[in-house]
Amino acid sequence: MKVRAQIGMVLNLDKCIGCHTCSVTCKNVWTNRPGVEYAWFNNVETKPGIGYPKRWEDQEEWNGGWVRKPNGKLELKQGSRWQVLAKMFANPNLPEIDDYYEPFTFDYEHLQSAPESKAAPTARPRSLITGKRMEKIEWGPNWEEILGGEFAKRSKDNNLRDFEVRQLEQLGQYENTFLMYLPRLCEHCLNPACVASCPSGSIYKREEDGIVLIDQDKCRGWRMCVSGCPYKKIYYNWESGKAEKCIFCYPRIEAGQPTVCSETCVGRIRYLGVLLYDADRIEAAASVEDPKQLYQAQLGLFLNPNDPAVQRQARTDGVPEAWLEAAKNSPVYQMAVDWQVALPLHPEYRTLPMVWYIPPLSPITQAAGTDSAGNELLPDPTTMRIPVKYLANLLTAGDEAPVIRSLSRMIAMRHYMRARHVEKRDDMDAL
Ligand code: SF4
Ligand code: SF4
Repeated sequence: MKVRAQIGMVLNLDKCIGCHTCSVTCKNVWTNRPGVEYAWFNNVETKPGIGYPKRWEDQEEWNGGWVRKPNGKLELKQGSRWQVLAKMFANPNLPEIDDYYEPFTFDYEHLQSAPESKAAPTARPRSLITGKRMEKIEWGPNWEEILGGEFAKRSKDNNLRDFEVRQLEQLGQYENTFLMYLPRLCEHCLNPACVASCPSGSIYKREEDGIVLIDQDKCRGWRMCVSGCPYKKIYYNWESGKAEKCIFCYPRIEAGQPTVCSETCVGRIRYLGVLLYDADRIEAAASVEDPKQLYQAQLGLFLNPNDPAVQRQARTDGVPEAWLEAAKNSPVYQMAVDWQVALPLHPEYRTLPMVWYIPPLSPITQAAGTDSAGNELLPDPTTMRIPVKYLANLLTAGDEAPVIRSLSRMIAMRHYMRARHVEKRDDMDAL
């Protein structure tokens, strides 16, 4: 056993209001520069939808004839080593600017300088890449949310998956539709595909806290990491010619502060914490054959920080005392391992992601019913508006049992908190 510490994040999707404050504050701090105008280290996706960049979850499309090996490398399904190398260097699986969106600002200047006219002047959009006025904006993150049914009609062009087309067509049919938000950032994976796919060896995972970083001096701009990352969370800076990604606000973490997105989150949905894991079992966990078992396999890597044997081994392996202490009080450990209410995003990508999500509750579509004594039962998670199958496809490679367990626990917690609230109100009345 080799003990390593990893910083992770849990996001409680039940509390996300889709305000995008996290994305905007992250952008202001880290990507408010020429070359990365289009890049959002943190973005908040509207689901169902095709996301940012478009169709990032469509691994077949991005990987084409490739298979992802357990170590994260891409290899041709069939072919010689030279064919693999030739295809690697052609790197055909890169998203283009239109897959993200053409970043724009508005022509505010025009509001001041327009000649006198009967109609009030308007600030037209202006491309941040070409500097020219844009007649029409074709696409942007969260476009599905705005266009809804209209977007579904155009689904052929946008390659929506069948399930998403159906969902979007239902917008407007109030009782059938659902909508949720999915904030996304680099997963700082335990088995990072970006590290494995970089030919320059410029991407590395920090020993002390597991944060994945790109050495800007070593990066040669091959962009294999952009195609290699299944979450599409590496961005090419067209000004510097280097790749960039979320750095988990490491200067802030080192100073004992939360990441910018966590600190500014309006819904208070983000929790940061340290986990201890067994680094010797990474490859075995990522190679489990049945994708539905990958969540459990990753869960099995995490070690109990209060176990004296784990603590002894962690000290021998050089885990700093402060990190051991942090692991003992980690809300991420509590939610992911103890309570098992938080789940990984797309564990079938086999990179062992470290940003986990508590699935959102949604209105129930059937009355909850009563038990034999006539007491009202708690709502059944499978009757909620957001289909369990949809959440399971996002979070557990289609295994519905962990999602149902998580939702049931969240329902019970909500019931308990509401009961306490009523008790408190009664106390107030008595007062
Ligand atoms: Fe690398 Fe992508 Fe994992 Fe981030 S999410 S560590 S960029 S593979
Ligand atoms: Fe959701 Fe928080 Fe981001 Fe708002 S700031 S979109 S609540 S994660």
